[in-house]
Amino acid sequence: MFCPFCRADDTKVIDSRLVADGSQVKRRRECGACHERFTTFEAAELVMPRIVKRDGSREPYNEAKLRSGVMRALEKRPVPTEQIESLISKVESLLRATGEREVPSQLLGTLIMDELVKLDKVAYVRFASVYRSFKDIREFGEEIARLGDN
Ligand SMILES: [Zn+2]
Repeated sequence: MFCPFCRADDTKVIDSRLVADGSQVKRRRECGACHERFTTFEAAELVMPRIVKRDGSREPYNEAKLRSGVMRALEKRPVPTEQIESLISKVESLLRATGEREVPSQLLGTLIMDELVKLDKVAYVRFASVYRSFKDIREFGEEIARLGDN
């Protein structure tokens, strides 16, 4: 990389160590031209994909929005906060694992429903009825019947 002092591209790493519990690498570099030293930090880029809504508009992933949707579905349900938090981190890591820069909102909805169904079936049905907007009462009934088979 370029030297920030003289812009020479001849810099070398003279020391390298793990910092921040191993999640970052700190490197000490020295410029071969002006001999100035500087530090760089390297960390994995964990960027959440942007969400493409049904109307084609894009919005940044919003954890607060996801949490409030999940909380609404779980209202008065006997599910510990800890499990809600782990559902949220699971969904987030699945989203990152897609490696995509943007994903359709339906995918986000499906990821949430797949996790919610394991946690609480009532919450799942509440969430699904809003998110998937069942076409008619029969489709809704079929979904509930399907849950009963598990
Ligand atoms: Zn330099």
